[in-house]
Amino acid sequence: MRKPIIAGNWKMFKTVPEALAFAAEVKGKAEVDGVDSVICAPFTNLPALVEALKGTQVKVGAQNLHFEDNGAFTGEISGLMLKELGVEYVIIGHSERRAYFAETDEIVNKKVLAAFKHGLTPIVCVGEKLEEREAGQTKDVCRVQTLGAFEGVSAEQAVQVVVAYEPIWAIGTGKSSTADDANEVIGYIREQLAGKYGAAVADAIRIQYGGSVKPGNIREYMQQSHIDGALVGGASLEPASYIQLVEGA
Ligand code: 13P
Repeated sequence: MRKPIIAGNWKMFKTVPEALAFAAEVKGKAEVDGVDSVICAPFTNLPALVEALKGTQVKVGAQNLHFEDNGAFTGEISGLMLKELGVEYVIIGHSERRAYFAETDEIVNKKVLAAFKHGLTPIVCVGEKLEEREAGQTKDVCRVQTLGAFEGVSAEQAVQVVVAYEPIWAIGTGKSSTADDANEVIGYIREQLAGKYGAAVADAIRIQYGGSVKPGNIREYMQQSHIDGALVGGASLEPASYIQLVEGA
C-alpha cells in the first residue's frame, strides 16, 4: 500500500513571520496518521520552519536545489546546504522552473541524483502544456520527462521518489484535470516506470496529482487507483485549507 502524501508548494509566498504563524496553526492538526504531510517553502523560511515543526509529522521541503555541492554559481543553493538545515524533501523540475528558468530534463535528472546524494527525497514534477494536450502529446511528454528524470536512478532510490503529475494548464487556473483523466495519465506514468524497474518497484512509487487541488476536490483524486496524493499551490497557503487537504487524503 502506498502512503498518501500531501505537499504544499508555497512558491514565492510568505515571509518568516507568516511561515511561523502558519506552522503554529497547523501543529497537531495537519498531522494524520497514515498520511505524509510536507510544506515546501522559500529558502529564506526553511531554518525557521524546520525548527517550528520539529517533532511534528509535518515535514519541510525546498522548491529547488543546484546539482553541484558548491562552486561559483551565484544565487544558487545546493543539496548539501539544504540537508544541513534539516530539510527532508525537495521539489525538482516544477513547470515554472522549466518555463522561466530553462530547466531541461537533463538538469532535472542531475538534480534528482544530487538530492539522493544528500539524502533528500525528490518530488519530481512532470506535465504537459495546453498545446501539447490539444495535440494529443500528453503521454509522450510525460514519458520523456519521467524517464529523463529517472536516468541513473537505482531501483532502491526509485521507490523513494515522489512524482507529481501537474498538467501546466491546470496550475493556478482553477481548471483542474478531471480525476479520471489524471488517473489515466498517472497510470501511464506508472507503466513507464514498470517498464524500467518492473511492476513491484513501479507499484511502490508514489505519484501525486497537482493543479488547482483544493479541499473541495481532494477526495475525488484520492479515490483514484493510481493517485497517491497532491502537490498543492494556492490552497496550501492558508492553514485551514491545508489541514483539510491533509484530512482529505
Ligand atoms: P495550484 O494548486 O495553485 O494550481 O498550483 C499547483 C502547483 O503548481 C503546485 O506545485
